[in-house]
Amino acid sequence: DTTRELLLSRIRDVRDYPKPGVVFKDITPLLADPEAFSALTEALAELCARHGATKIVGLEARGFILAAPVAVRAGLGFVPVRKAGKLPGATLSQTYELEYGSAEIEVHAEDLAAGDRVMVIDDVLATGGTAGAALELIRRAGAEVAGVAVLMEIGFLGGRARLEPELHGAPLDAL
Ligand code: 5GP
Repeated sequence: DTTRELLLSRIRDVRDYPKPGVVFKDITPLLADPEAFSALTEALAELCARHGATKIVGLEARGFILAAPVAVRAGLGFVPVRKAGKLPGATLSQTYELEYGSAEIEVHAEDLAAGDRVMVIDDVLATGGTAGAALELIRRAGAEVAGVAVLMEIGFLGGRARLEPELHGAPLDAL
Protein backbone atom coordinates (compact mmCIF):
# COMPACT_ATOMS: atom_id res chain seq x y z
CA ASP A 1 0.00 0.00 0.00
CA THR A 2 1.01 3.65 0.04
CA THR A 3 2.66 3.65 3.50
CA ARG A 4 4.76 0.67 2.49
CA GLU A 5 5.80 2.38 -0.75
CA LEU A 6 6.67 5.59 1.13
CA LEU A 7 8.77 3.72 3.70
CA LEU A 8 10.55 1.63 1.05
CA SER A 9 11.38 4.74 -0.97
CA ARG A 10 13.18 6.24 2.04
CA ILE A 11 15.50 3.29 2.75
CA ARG A 12 18.89 3.53 1.08
CA ASP A 13 21.06 0.57 0.09
CA VAL A 14 24.71 1.16 0.96
CA ARG A 15 27.03 -1.34 -0.71
CA ASP A 16 30.05 -2.83 1.07
CA TYR A 17 29.09 -1.41 4.48
CA PRO A 18 30.15 -2.19 7.19
CA LYS A 19 32.33 -4.64 5.26
CA PRO A 20 32.84 -5.81 1.67
CA GLY A 21 29.95 -7.86 0.26
CA VAL A 22 27.33 -6.52 2.67
CA VAL A 23 24.47 -4.30 1.47
CA PHE A 24 23.49 -2.15 4.45
CA LYS A 25 19.91 -0.89 4.72
CA ASP A 26 20.30 2.73 5.77
CA ILE A 27 17.20 4.24 7.41
CA THR A 28 18.55 7.78 7.89
CA PRO A 29 16.69 9.15 4.80
CA LEU A 30 13.45 7.86 6.36
CA LEU A 31 14.22 9.50 9.73
CA ALA A 32 14.97 12.80 7.96
CA ASP A 33 11.57 12.79 6.24
CA PRO A 34 8.88 13.88 8.74
CA GLU A 35 6.04 12.33 6.73
CA ALA A 36 7.75 8.94 6.47
CA PHE A 37 8.99 8.95 10.10
CA SER A 38 5.51 9.81 11.34
CA ALA A 39 3.88 7.14 9.15
CA LEU A 40 6.34 4.58 10.52
CA THR A 41 5.75 5.43 14.18
CA GLU A 42 2.00 5.42 13.60
CA ALA A 43 2.10 1.99 11.97
CA LEU A 44 4.25 0.59 14.79
CA ALA A 45 2.00 2.13 17.46
CA GLU A 46 -1.01 0.52 15.75
CA LEU A 47 0.68 -2.90 15.97
CA CYS A 48 1.32 -2.32 19.68
CA ALA A 49 -2.37 -1.59 20.22
CA ARG A 50 -3.46 -4.54 18.08
CA HIS A 51 -1.30 -6.97 20.07
CA GLY A 52 -2.31 -5.57 23.45
CA ALA A 53 1.16 -4.35 24.45
CA THR A 54 1.55 -2.58 27.79
CA LYS A 55 5.28 -1.78 27.47
CA ILE A 56 7.75 -1.12 24.66
CA VAL A 57 11.30 -2.47 24.47
CA GLY A 58 13.68 -0.79 22.00
CA LEU A 59 16.92 -2.44 20.89
CA GLU A 60 20.13 -0.40 20.84
CA ALA A 61 20.76 1.68 18.86
CA ARG A 62 18.40 2.34 15.94
CA GLY A 63 15.60 0.56 17.75
CA PHE A 64 15.71 3.41 20.32
CA ILE A 65 15.02 5.99 17.63
CA LEU A 66 11.85 4.17 16.58
CA ALA A 67 10.64 2.76 19.89
CA ALA A 68 10.70 6.02 21.86
CA PRO A 69 8.23 7.96 19.68
CA VAL A 70 6.09 4.82 19.36
CA ALA A 71 5.93 4.54 23.16
CA VAL A 72 4.84 8.17 23.49
CA ARG A 73 2.28 7.75 20.72
CA ALA A 74 0.91 4.53 22.20
CA GLY A 75 0.88 5.96 25.74
CA LEU A 76 3.22 3.22 26.98
CA GLY A 77 6.51 3.13 28.86
CA PHE A 78 9.81 2.69 27.03
CA VAL A 79 12.49 0.25 28.20
CA PRO A 80 15.96 0.20 26.59
CA VAL A 81 17.75 -3.08 25.90
CA ARG A 82 21.41 -2.10 25.69
CA LYS A 83 24.75 -3.59 24.77
CA ALA A 84 26.52 -4.96 27.85
CA GLY A 85 28.07 -2.49 30.27
CA LYS A 86 25.93 0.58 29.49
CA LEU A 87 23.16 0.38 32.09
CA PRO A 88 23.99 1.67 35.59
CA GLY A 89 21.53 -0.35 37.68
CA ALA A 90 21.01 -4.05 38.41
CA THR A 91 20.67 -5.87 35.09
CA LEU A 92 19.70 -9.14 33.53
CA SER A 93 22.03 -10.06 30.68
CA GLN A 94 21.84 -12.45 27.77
CA THR A 95 24.54 -13.60 25.35
CA TYR A 96 23.86 -14.78 21.82
CA GLU A 97 25.83 -16.16 18.91
CA LEU A 98 26.99 -14.03 16.00
CA GLU A 99 28.49 -15.24 12.73
CA TYR A 100 31.92 -14.86 14.37
CA GLY A 101 31.89 -14.82 18.17
CA SER A 102 29.12 -13.67 20.46
CA ALA A 103 27.40 -10.55 21.78
CA GLU A 104 25.69 -9.61 25.03
CA ILE A 105 22.69 -7.40 25.76
CA GLU A 106 21.19 -6.20 29.03
CA VAL A 107 18.07 -4.69 30.54
CA HIS A 108 17.41 -3.11 33.93
CA ALA A 109 15.76 -5.90 35.91
CA GLU A 110 13.32 -3.53 37.60
CA ASP A 111 11.96 -2.19 34.27
CA LEU A 112 10.13 -5.42 33.39
CA ALA A 113 7.85 -7.46 35.62
CA ALA A 114 5.12 -10.09 35.70
CA GLY A 115 1.96 -8.72 34.12
CA ASP A 116 3.80 -6.67 31.47
CA ARG A 117 3.01 -7.48 27.85
CA VAL A 118 6.06 -6.33 25.96
CA MET A 119 6.43 -5.30 22.33
CA VAL A 120 9.99 -5.45 20.96
CA ILE A 121 10.81 -2.81 18.35
CA ASP A 122 13.85 -2.55 16.08
CA ASP A 123 14.66 -1.19 12.65
CA VAL A 124 15.95 -4.33 10.94
CA LEU A 125 15.62 -8.05 11.58
CA ALA A 126 18.74 -9.65 10.07
CA THR A 127 19.78 -13.03 11.54
CA GLY A 128 17.31 -12.66 14.43
CA GLY A 129 19.99 -13.11 17.08
CA THR A 130 19.46 -9.75 18.77
CA ALA A 131 15.67 -9.98 18.88
CA GLY A 132 15.83 -13.59 20.10
CA ALA A 133 18.09 -12.62 23.00
CA ALA A 134 15.72 -9.74 23.86
CA LEU A 135 12.80 -12.20 24.05
CA GLU A 136 14.82 -14.34 26.47
CA LEU A 137 15.48 -11.30 28.66
CA ILE A 138 11.81 -10.35 28.72
CA ARG A 139 10.74 -13.85 29.79
CA ARG A 140 13.52 -14.16 32.36
CA ALA A 141 12.24 -10.90 33.88
CA GLY A 142 8.86 -12.62 34.28
CA ALA A 143 7.10 -10.56 31.61
CA GLU A 144 5.14 -11.74 28.60
CA VAL A 145 6.00 -11.11 24.93
CA ALA A 146 3.27 -9.27 23.00
CA GLY A 147 5.21 -9.39 19.75
CA VAL A 148 8.16 -8.23 17.70
CA ALA A 149 7.77 -5.37 15.23
CA VAL A 150 10.43 -4.20 12.82
CA LEU A 151 10.52 -1.80 9.91
CA MET A 152 12.22 -4.35 7.72
CA GLU A 153 13.15 -8.01 7.59
CA ILE A 154 16.12 -9.16 5.48
CA GLY A 155 14.52 -12.41 4.38
CA PHE A 156 17.50 -14.36 3.07
CA LEU A 157 19.32 -14.11 6.42
CA GLY A 158 16.71 -16.39 7.98
CA GLY A 159 15.87 -14.26 11.02
CA ARG A 160 12.22 -15.28 11.06
CA ALA A 161 13.09 -18.97 11.25
CA ARG A 162 15.72 -18.39 13.95
CA LEU A 163 13.26 -16.35 15.99
CA GLU A 164 10.32 -18.70 15.57
CA PRO A 165 11.08 -20.98 18.57
CA GLU A 166 11.58 -17.92 20.79
CA LEU A 167 8.25 -16.33 19.81
CA HIS A 168 6.09 -19.02 21.46
CA GLY A 169 3.35 -18.05 19.01
CA ALA A 170 3.66 -14.28 19.48
CA PRO A 171 3.46 -12.27 16.23
CA LEU A 172 6.48 -11.04 14.25
CA ASP A 173 5.48 -8.12 12.03
CA ALA A 174 7.76 -6.54 9.42
CA LEU A 175 6.30 -3.40 7.86
P1 5GP B 1 20.46 -9.55 13.86
O1 5GP B 1 20.73 -9.75 15.31
O2 5GP B 1 19.01 -9.78 13.49
O3 5GP B 1 21.39 -10.26 12.97
O4 5GP B 1 20.79 -8.03 13.55
C1 5GP B 1 19.86 -7.07 13.80
C2 5GP B 1 20.51 -5.88 14.40
O5 5GP B 1 21.57 -5.41 13.56
C3 5GP B 1 19.50 -4.76 14.51
O6 5GP B 1 19.64 -4.13 15.77
C4 5GP B 1 19.81 -3.84 13.36
O7 5GP B 1 19.75 -2.50 13.76
C5 5GP B 1 21.23 -4.20 12.92
N1 5GP B 1 21.34 -4.42 11.46
C6 5GP B 1 21.80 -5.51 10.82
N2 5GP B 1 21.80 -5.32 9.49
C7 5GP B 1 21.34 -4.08 9.29
C8 5GP B 1 21.10 -3.28 8.11
O8 5GP B 1 21.32 -3.67 6.95
N3 5GP B 1 20.59 -2.04 8.30
C9 5GP B 1 20.33 -1.56 9.55
N4 5GP B 1 19.82 -0.32 9.64
N5 5GP B 1 20.55 -2.27 10.66
C10 5GP B 1 21.05 -3.51 10.53
